[in-house]
Amino acid sequence: MSSSFLAINFAYVISAGMFILGLKMLSSPATARRGNLISALGMLLAIVVTLFSQGLDYKWIVLGIVIGGTIGLIAAYKVEMTSMPEMVALFNGFGGIASMLLSWGEYHQNPQMSVFIGIVASLSAFIGGVTFSGSMIAFGKLSEKIPSKAILFNGQHLINGTILVVALLATVFFASHAESLYWVFVLIVIIALVFGVTSVIPIGGADMPVVISLLNSYSGLAACAAGFVISNNILIVAGALVGASGIILTRIMCKAMNRSLANVLFSGFGAKIQAGGDGPQGEIKPASAEDVYYILEAADSVAFVPGYGLAVAQAQHVTRELGDLLEQNGTEVMYAIHPVAGRMPGHMNVLLAEANVPYDQLVEMDDINPRMDSVDVCVVIGANDVVNPAALTDKNSSIYGMPIIEVHRAKTVIVLKRSMSPGFAGIQNALFFMENTRMYFGDAKASIQALIAEFKGGN
Ligand code: NDP
Repeated sequence: MSSSFLAINFAYVISAGMFILGLKMLSSPATARRGNLISALGMLLAIVVTLFSQGLDYKWIVLGIVIGGTIGLIAAYKVEMTSMPEMVALFNGFGGIASMLLSWGEYHQNPQMSVFIGIVASLSAFIGGVTFSGSMIAFGKLSEKIPSKAILFNGQHLINGTILVVALLATVFFASHAESLYWVFVLIVIIALVFGVTSVIPIGGADMPVVISLLNSYSGLAACAAGFVISNNILIVAGALVGASGIILTRIMCKAMNRSLANVLFSGFGAKIQAGGDGPQGEIKPASAEDVYYILEAADSVAFVPGYGLAVAQAQHVTRELGDLLEQNGTEVMYAIHPVAGRMPGHMNVLLAEANVPYDQLVEMDDINPRMDSVDVCVVIGANDVVNPAALTDKNSSIYGMPIIEVHRAKTVIVLKRSMSPGFAGIQNALFFMENTRMYFGDAKASIQALIAEFKGGN
């Protein structure tokens, strides 16, 4: 074993440690930025030491770094926060195709593969191919370049099941005689690309963040398998970490929506949503900016509960400004975060961090609910499903069982939204008709700006 091989693998161990530390730090808003940086530095270290491996042709590597780096840099600067899930979909897709091409290239160069390497090469090609085409569909749906609704087709489960069985049989066949079965490898690639499309197309656009998290996991598994093909330890470790964290995130999201992964993947949820929404009806009590100002002005404690509408209205900065004014008025201010508020994991955390909301004012759902009875005012900003009490009480509701922020238990609830339209789940919200709820209609940003004007005028 050469000393350079040992040195490279020693550096890989350090990189792996940095990935794990970085991942751990991502779990809290206070340390997430540093965690991201540490993981990125770990990757930089891994890339730099890999460049010392023998037999590399640097001109292609440099060309790849320059082209890829430039595109990545421009995209990262230009992307809007609301388009982040699409961007992640593209990243996953490219990760998947990179693993697929790596295995293909390795096989092309050296078709004499052992059974084990044959299996991991075909797995990497299959999972990488599914990740690529599935992510492209996810990207198309989220960016509305293709219809975002769930597109169901006849015999969907049978077709997808058959494709999976064929892929499995092809993998076993290929691995047994890899050197003479080039066409089977190509067949696996084609099946994978088709399966990515047929398995993602029947999923509704709004379920895409869950699918993207799952595809993220797939991209990790593909990379892990590719790592075995080229005997690269850090690729194996990094792929396994991405695979595991992606599946954990998928599970957390499903749990917070009270849906099984199978329900997200196979039920065509988005196809069944009705535009008008059903559910409770009754009298609502609209409020003006002035009414809301008086309620807030007199409150000892206020909890903001942001949702998807905050992201649409880009109301994070004005919300923070209103929070600061309330604090100056002697009010205790909290921001209650539901794990699936918005349209991607951590959506609200990212927006509020952008507005520099202090981390110690962020309260998780499980921490705010037990003390909800003592909160004077909950200001619901563009949230709907995540505060719908039907999730607790109505067994027939499609969101029954989903944990919610129980704003209806606060003394007063102010709901900011533009109309009585339902949210993602397509159902009307009983909260809007409750005795302690006031509806403050309008675009969230404009509504909050009006409140700020009231506060400034009132002082
Ligand atoms: P919802 O989608 O339930 O509701 C959003 C509300 O925002 C709508 O009722 C809409 O009402 C209002 N709104 C939209 N634009 C504005 C605006 N400019 N100003 C004011 N209000 C506005 O959002 P929630 O965050 O409560 O719930 C998220 C939903 O998405 C859940 O059902 C969750 O399961 C699902 N989901 C979440 C994922 C995640 O990772 N976070 C992933 C996939 C799904 P109006 O049109 O009347 O203004």
